Amino acid sequence: MLADHRDAMSMAGPAPEADAAYTSAAGQVLAIMVADCLPILLYSRNGNEIAAIHAGWRGLAANIIAETLAHFSSTDITAWLGPAIGPCHYEVDAPLRDHFPGGQGFAPGRDADHWMFDLGVLARQQLTACGVQTLAGGDVCTFCDERFYSYRRDGATGRFAVFIWRE
Ligand SMILES: [Zn+2]
Repeated sequence: MLADHRDAMSMAGPAPEADAAYTSAAGQVLAIMVADCLPILLYSRNGNEIAAIHAGWRGLAANIIAETLAHFSSTDITAWLGPAIGPCHYEVDAPLRDHFPGGQGFAPGRDADHWMFDLGVLARQQLTACGVQTLAGGDVCTFCDERFYSYRRDGATGRFAVFIWRE
């Protein structure tokens, strides 16, 4: 689900919750809360449009990146990938991999039924396929780096937040 905040003046009450949010309104803060899922921030070079995506495997399988980018009128967009569980620690089973027929981002795991999944590789491939040419970040594993919450490492845990807004 994607929330479109283009009409900031109509926003009353609590902000809507979704896996992605887009706005071209100044002063509207978009927030993503994660603990292993991949936060992605998008902004147009002209500074007029921004978006934030909570990219877990379900969102990536559902083309959340392409759906979010479809809201942009600009075609010159930069993407920043935040900390997420890395392929060093994200073991998934074969049924999950079956959601991605292309197989991009999967490396063999401990046996034929398990795979090490790289959310960043898949996200970069999807972003590039959608025409995003400038990519940054995406090199921190939340499981490895104890500065971040990691659901897989800690079980019951908090979330850290990623924000983007226009001045
Ligand atoms: Zn790791």
